[in-house]
Amino acid sequence: MRAGEFARKAQRNSKIYLDMDGVLADFFAEYAKIANVKSYRDIPPAKADPLLDSMVGTDFFARLPKFPTTDQLVKLAVSHAGDYSICSSPLRNDYTNSAYWKKIWIRSKLTPQPITVEITSNKPHYAVSNGVPNILIDDKGSNIRGWREAGGIGIKYQADEDNLNIVKQALDIIFCDVKDTCDTEEVDEMSHCDAEKILKKNNFHKERAHGSHEVYKNDETGKTFALPHKHHATDLSKGVEHDLKKAVH
Ligand SMILES: [Mg+2]
Repeated sequence: MRAGEFARKAQRNSKIYLDMDGVLADFFAEYAKIANVKSYRDIPPAKADPLLDSMVGTDFFARLPKFPTTDQLVKLAVSHAGDYSICSSPLRNDYTNSAYWKKIWIRSKLTPQPITVEITSNKPHYAVSNGVPNILIDDKGSNIRGWREAGGIGIKYQADEDNLNIVKQALDIIFCDVKDTCDTEEVDEMSHCDAEKILKKNNFHKERAHGSHEVYKNDETGKTFALPHKHHATDLSKGVEHDLKKAVH
């Protein structure tokens, strides 16, 4: 996860949308089965279109197994947003039929049930509601990009390749405003060493250790400043940096 990747934060009524194929439903397993190969990675590109065509008009999407992580992912979404929704693309040239079987799958496989189900070719349409950004968890890079460009928050996750922990970490960061935990999540660029330099330049000297802090003092002004020990903070939090700036001025 890149630092600052989730600068856009969830609000109290932000919704979490889960994609189906590759995220909740093991599309890959069934896709390989109808192609008669072990892994979907063994399917030659030339075969992809005929295979997709062969799904048209069938109950393919109702037959997909869940991933071992599907129930945990649903639970994770509910624990952050209180509930969740589905945002899934229909099979091309098979909108009504594929949507029908996808909804059957949702009804029989997911607990608790989603509050809304969107089977849509226009995912970015759901990226923002009433000015509030929504979250999309999806395995397709272009879906994530489109969602972000429309003002939403996207988490790229593919259940057979990624650890569910990346979703947990991302949601913890994204929901930090709602849970009031942002300060402990985000560390600032200022290092312990920089802080020492600033203190010395402003005539503070190390006076004593106090718990997990070192107390610096400026004898002229009588001002003190408690700097966390190096092993407690490689990067100092915004709070410490703010206090330091106040102390030396
Ligand atoms: Mg997908």
